[in-house]
Amino acid sequence: MCLFCKIIDRKIPSKFVCEDEYVFAFEDINPQAPVHILVVPKKHISTMLEAGPDDNELIGRLFQAANKIARDRNIAERGFRLVINCNPDAGQSVYHIHLHLMGGRIMRWPPG
Ligand code: AMP
Ligand code: ZN
Repeated sequence: MCLFCKIIDRKIPSKFVCEDEYVFAFEDINPQAPVHILVVPKKHISTMLEAGPDDNELIGRLFQAANKIARDRNIAERGFRLVINCNPDAGQSVYHIHLHLMGGRIMRWPPG
């Protein structure tokens, strides 16, 4: 079972943010911004490349959850960044899809 599947199953503790039937959100253990939350599907999908057409609704739910959290954390209007890293060049380190929601500071572009 992968690290994030264990967090979803509460076999490993996390700073819980919210969940519904499909999506689970928790604080990143090594935050890169004042708000840094990971939004993950409860279904194990290892990378964005493995997300198929059947997962379109689920992927949409990740983004809808991120919108809601951004509003709840009062970073929606100022702005925030959503990132999905895929495979080694992007720096993916956990092979269970996760949407990084980051905000609370000015984000630079291009990212490193
Ligand atoms: P990525 O590099 O895109 O695969 O992102 C993985 C993220 O998971 C990193 O930002 C890590 O800080 C975060 N992370 C790793 N282990 C944990 C954990 N046990 N709880 C919360 N976040 C974690
Ligand atoms: Zn998993």
